[in-house]
Amino acid sequence: MTRAPILIVGGGFSGAMLAARLAESGQGSVLIDATGRFGRGVAYSTDFDGHVLNVRSARMSAVEDRPEAFVRWLRSHAPEHADPGGFAPRGLYGRYVADRLASVEAAHPGMIDMVHGRVAAIDGADVVLDDGRRRAGRAVVLATGNPAPNTARDGLERVTRDPWAPGALDAVESNETIAVIGTGLTMVDVALALEARGWTGTMRAFSPRGLLPRAHGEVHDAAVPPAPEMLDGPASRRLAAARLRARDHGWRGVMEGLRPITADLWRAADVRTRSRLFRHLRPWWDVHRHRIAPGVAARIDRLIADGRLTVSAARVTGATPVGADLIDMDSNRPADRDKVMVEWLPPRATVPRGLLVDRVIDCSGPGHDPRRDPLTAPLLKSGRARLDPLGLGLDLDDAGRVVGADGAPDPALFVLGPPARGAFWETIAVPDVRRRIEALAAVLT
Ligand SMILES: Cc1cc2nc3c(=O)[nH]c(=O)nc-3n(C[C@H](O)[C@H](O)[C@H](O)COP(=O)(O)OP(=O)(O)OC[C@H]3O[C@@H](n4cnc5c(N)ncnc54)[C@H](O)[C@@H]3O)c2cc1C
Repeated sequence: MTRAPILIVGGGFSGAMLAARLAESGQGSVLIDATGRFGRGVAYSTDFDGHVLNVRSARMSAVEDRPEAFVRWLRSHAPEHADPGGFAPRGLYGRYVADRLASVEAAHPGMIDMVHGRVAAIDGADVVLDDGRRRAGRAVVLATGNPAPNTARDGLERVTRDPWAPGALDAVESNETIAVIGTGLTMVDVALALEARGWTGTMRAFSPRGLLPRAHGEVHDAAVPPAPEMLDGPASRRLAAARLRARDHGWRGVMEGLRPITADLWRAADVRTRSRLFRHLRPWWDVHRHRIAPGVAARIDRLIADGRLTVSAARVTGATPVGADLIDMDSNRPADRDKVMVEWLPPRATVPRGLLVDRVIDCSGPGHDPRRDPLTAPLLKSGRARLDPLGLGLDLDDAGRVVGADGAPDPALFVLGPPARGAFWETIAVPDVRRRIEALAAVLT
C-alpha cells in the first residue's frame, strides 16, 4: 500500500523543492499554492531582469548535494548568465526552480500533485482549502514563505502596503515624490524597478538606524572559520571577538564562516541572549549578512549621489492622506494631486516631523505574525501550537515540528523556510533553506 501524501502548504522555493526531494525519495506529496505559479514564490516571480539574485550563482543550487546544479542549468538554458561568480536575474532562477520541479515530476509520475488554491485551515493531518476542498495527508508542512509587509495601516489612499503584489508599482507616476518605510532589500528592489520604468522623482527612505544593505565583494569571500571565543560566552564578548576577526580577515569572510552554524548558535542561545541579539544586533546583522550584488549597490549609490534617494535614520509614526486642495510647500502652489503627510521621528526626538509626499511604499520587510495569520492563529488558540519565546514565529523542535502549548512536538505538523525563523533564525536564503529541506525530507521519509 502506498503511504499517504505529505501536504505542503505553499509552492514557492521551499515547498516546491521539498516536494521534489520527497518524490526522489519515493514519498508522494500534495503541493498547494495560492498563486498557482509553482517554484516561484514572491522572490522569483519578478520578470524585471534588474532584480538579480543576492547570492552568487555558484551557491544557488536548489539541491544540497548537487552544488553545481544551477550553474549547469544556466549553461544550457541561459549561457549569457552562466558565470558562477555572477548574480543572475531572479526571474531566471524562478524558471530553474520550476524546471527542476517539472523534471522530477516527469521522472516520478504521480508523486507530486500540484493544486492551485489557498489553504484556509489545518485539521489534524488534513487541510481545507478556501473553496471547501479537503485534502487528506500523513503530515502537513507549512511553507507559506514571506508575508507582505505590515507596518502601514490597511486601506490608506496613496499608501502601497504590498510592494511585491503583481502590478503594485503601476500606479506610480513618473515624477512622484515617495516616502519609503524601510531601507533594506525591498526598498532597493523598489527603487531599481521604478527607475527602470522611467520614474524621475525623489525618494526618502526611513528605518530606525538608516542602514543600507552592504555590497558583496567583487569575488566570493572564502569563509573564515570562527574563532573559538566567538562560539561561547556572553554575547558582547562573542561580538568583540567577531569584530577582531573581521578586522584581521575581512568581515565578509567572517559572515560566511558563521553561515553554516548560525542556526545551531541561535538554537543553543538562551532566551535572554536571543532577545538581546534580536533587539540590538539584528539591523547590523541583516545588512552584513544579506548583501546586494556590486552592480545593484552601484545603482543605489548613483541614486543617492544624484540626490534622488535620501536615507534617514528615523521611525515613520504616521501617514495621513490629504486632499489636493492644499498648498505644496516646495512650490508654494496648489498641489496637483492628493498627497500623504508622513510623520517621522528621528532618534531621541520627541516631536515628529512632517514630510509631504505623493506616495508611501511599505518596504519594511516580511510581516511575520502568526497571531494574525488566518492559518496559524487557530492553531495558537487551540493550543496545537505556541509562539517561540520571542514571538517571532511558531515554536519548533530541532526537526521543524510545531511544539504545542503542552510542550510536545506535533508529529504531523512542520514549518519550513522563512516562517521557521523563531526556531532557526537564518532560514530565509536558498543555501539555508535547502539544508533544512534535506533535514526535513529525512524526517518525513
Ligand atoms: C523579494 C525577495 C528577494 C529574495 N531574493 C533572494 C535571493 O536572491 N537569494 C536567496 O537565496 N534568497 C532570496 N530571498 C529569500 C527567500 O525567502 C527565499 O529564497 C525563498 O524564495 C523562500 O521561498 P518560500 O517558498 O519559503 O517562500 P515564498 O517564496 O514566499 O513562497 C510561499 C508561497 O506560499 C504561498 N502561500 C502562502 N500562504 C498560502 C496558503 N494559505 N495557501 C496556499 N498557498 C499559500 C504563497 O502564495 C507563495 O507562493 C528573497 C526574498 C524576497 C522576498
